[in-house]
Amino acid sequence: MSQILWFRRDLRITDSAILSNAKHKVLPIFIFDKNILKALPKDDKRVTFIYKSVLDLKNRLKSIGLDLAIFYDEPINVFKNLKERGFDEVLCSIDFDNYAKKRDKEIEKILPMKRFIDSFILNPLEHLKSDNTPYKVFTPFYKSLNIISKSKSIETFKRNENLEKVDFDYDFIPSLKELGFEEQRQESFLQKDGIILLDEFIEKIENYKEDRDFFYKDASSKLSVHLRFGLISAKEVFNYLKSFDNIDCEFFIRELFWREFYNYILFHFPKSEIENFNNIEIEWNDNEEDFQKWCDGKTGIPIIDAAMKNLNETGMMHNRLRMVVASFLTKNLFIDWKKGEKYFALKLLDYEASSNIGSWQWSASTGADASPYFRVFNPYIQSKKFDKEGIFIKTVFPELKHIDSKLFHTENGVSSNLFVEYPKSIVDISLSRKQAIEKFKRARNENL
Ligand SMILES: Cc1cc2nc3c(=O)[nH]c(=O)nc-3n(C[C@H](O)[C@H](O)[C@H](O)COP(=O)(O)OP(=O)(O)OC[C@H]3O[C@@H](n4cnc5c(N)ncnc54)[C@H](O)[C@@H]3O)c2cc1C
Repeated sequence: MSQILWFRRDLRITDSAILSNAKHKVLPIFIFDKNILKALPKDDKRVTFIYKSVLDLKNRLKSIGLDLAIFYDEPINVFKNLKERGFDEVLCSIDFDNYAKKRDKEIEKILPMKRFIDSFILNPLEHLKSDNTPYKVFTPFYKSLNIISKSKSIETFKRNENLEKVDFDYDFIPSLKELGFEEQRQESFLQKDGIILLDEFIEKIENYKEDRDFFYKDASSKLSVHLRFGLISAKEVFNYLKSFDNIDCEFFIRELFWREFYNYILFHFPKSEIENFNNIEIEWNDNEEDFQKWCDGKTGIPIIDAAMKNLNETGMMHNRLRMVVASFLTKNLFIDWKKGEKYFALKLLDYEASSNIGSWQWSASTGADASPYFRVFNPYIQSKKFDKEGIFIKTVFPELKHIDSKLFHTENGVSSNLFVEYPKSIVDISLSRKQAIEKFKRARNENL
């Protein structure tokens, strides 16, 4: 019996379901999937990150006597070929993405697949309400998980140390260029191991609850990209933090379970990818020009523009800023959350369909356990509250470094300064807020 160990979004050798469940002779593989890659721009930052992580994984597998065969093809072709070469089955972790589900169905017609829950802590099929229906609200969902979230540790997968690699051509390593991509500059935190990021975070965790919203501070864990591609598992993060007796990590653990919650929601309500979860019908604005200005960071509102410019340049955005730009797009510009979700999907290094869809629906007040529709972030109040001195804005727009930071927090403040070229706001914040609330009331059939 020889098994194929298909690494996909679990690029690690610790707490690895497939390395734990595999037996005897194995062929670990990674496929640079042509179907996925062909849809991406050649400067996609994620591909550089994945590429380096795959090479890292290859080295780690070598250090335990295995190796990684790398393919650049469509998965169907790879598995047809491997079947002909006598492989019996495929082991992999479950990928809940829509494309992945369809792809796996096709692969299963070629070779039997054994799939394991490995990218998340919870199996979404479990943890239902007492009436056997899924939770829709985070707090009761989280409370029901007390036994897990309050425990000292969660069992991880132990590697089977008796695995042997099959003879194979392990030498093929396509270059990024051969894959059709240009190497992109990586932020320094992306080059660090997940465990190093955790170590650094331990120093900050005491202030996490208070500081995490101040987007000019470096107060959060920055683990989302590593979690997304499985360089570290959520269980490992959990266990590591819980191993310190003198550290209160409860608030952070709760955040980690938002990731679980959104995965659970998308699993049970797959239509929420394309429909408003709460079923309200909204006539969104189709203003393409406004949408483009939002994407390009040219709305005339410094906090929005800095957040979007920074996203376009780095592939990252602070959580508070994600909430602010999402509220602005869906409430002030009244543009469909799906357009914002798609744009984030294109740009975010940590793009995770479930978290992104769930968070966008939350921001648009259309989701499970959503923000109330009358909660519209005022971007000027947000920047004053969480970046009073305009530190983040000035970092992104060095040309504004001499501007009095008060002007960042006033409508058309910066554009009123004759010495800089900065656009006027594309929308009146209080008027658009009022109009959005009225439109929401109408959509919900509430009295105006
Ligand atoms: C509109 C919008 C879109 C988002 N899209 C994504 C996405 O595509 N991928 C993604 O991983 N996160 C997404 N988030 C959640 C959150 O912004 C990021 O997880 C966080 O900014 C990552 O930084 P961090 O690792 O330093 O977070 P920390 O504050 O250190 O949190 C630790 C981990 O908990 C999880 N987490 C924290 N907050 C959330 C949350 N609200 N929802 C789900 N998981 C959370 C993440 O895995 C994160 O890495 C989105 C939020 C919003 C408002």
